[in-house]
Amino acid sequence: SKELGRNSFQMYKASMNARSLERLSMQSRFQSALENGEFELYFQPLKCLVSGRITSLECLLRWHDPNLGMISPAQFIPLAEELGLIVKLDEWVIDRACAQLAHWQKMNIDVRHLAINVSAQHLTQGDLVNSLHNALSKYELEGNQIELELTEGCFISNFQCAKDVLSSVKKMGVSIALDDFGTGYSALSYLTKLPIDILKIDPSFIAKIPDEYGNSEIVSAIVAMAKALKLHVVAEGVEKQEQMRFLQKLGCHAMQGYLYCKPLSQAAWCEFYQAEKLI
Ligand code: C2E
Ligand code: CA
Ligand code: CA
Ligand code: CA
Repeated sequence: SKELGRNSFQMYKASMNARSLERLSMQSRFQSALENGEFELYFQPLKCLVSGRITSLECLLRWHDPNLGMISPAQFIPLAEELGLIVKLDEWVIDRACAQLAHWQKMNIDVRHLAINVSAQHLTQGDLVNSLHNALSKYELEGNQIELELTEGCFISNFQCAKDVLSSVKKMGVSIALDDFGTGYSALSYLTKLPIDILKIDPSFIAKIPDEYGNSEIVSAIVAMAKALKLHVVAEGVEKQEQMRFLQKLGCHAMQGYLYCKPLSQAAWCEFYQAEKLI
């Protein structure tokens, strides 16, 4: 009867827990955030420890929620992954990053490499090769202007698939960086089994230099190993002069961190670049 139908609907409603309601509202909020331009790219330059010049620029996503203010990617990226929205977000980042790079080229802002973070899911879902290819041709860029940053997590669920995607990406001239190095699992075998060009040492190792026993030794071993494997090695999260000097002595190639420059908006980055050019 009609009454029974209404009752079972009530029961269904009651069983729909807070979690799924939250998911539903987050999904529509993400969608509208994309449409309303609430996402913005920030940029953090990496400095060469030999020449002192900018070697590349990492794109870091920001979300300005009209009610909540700025939400950190450390919060919303895992959520976007869980909700299956990360590929769409990554694709948006790739398009915007390439548009920006082409725009800077016209302004004579010489960004040698633009580094884009890619989520693990993007290697098995979606079509990373195609979205990169499209963006490169749309904005008339060369593959060798782009670096993709991946974490070890990318290779755990589907190694062969990830490896194939990376090989195709490499054929376009794009470089691959292994992000957060030293915090994941079986990283050492990935270094020889995958076409990796750059190692980014996790900031947790750098932060404890020089105070905590063992960290300097670990960093020094990572740098030595990277160089033996002919990889470019970058230290992340460099905040102190002393850390920079230590890395320089080791022969680490580049550094990234608040000591040199924090992530900047597009306008602030252009100012930073102009000021840096005069030095
Ligand atoms: P990540 O790729 O390891 O990025 C480096 C993080 O370290 C950034 O945090 C950056 O702001 C921060 N950082 C830079 N220098 C320093 C320093 O000297 N000290 C400290 N304490 N932190 C520093 P952010 O921007 O909050 O991003 C967090 C993470 O979110 C990123 O970690 C990355 O995994 C993810 N993410 C950011 N943008 C994107 C994106 O466009 N796509 C994807 N898939 N993930 C992104
Ligand atoms: Ca990164
Ligand atoms: Ca990192
Ligand atoms: Ca990370």
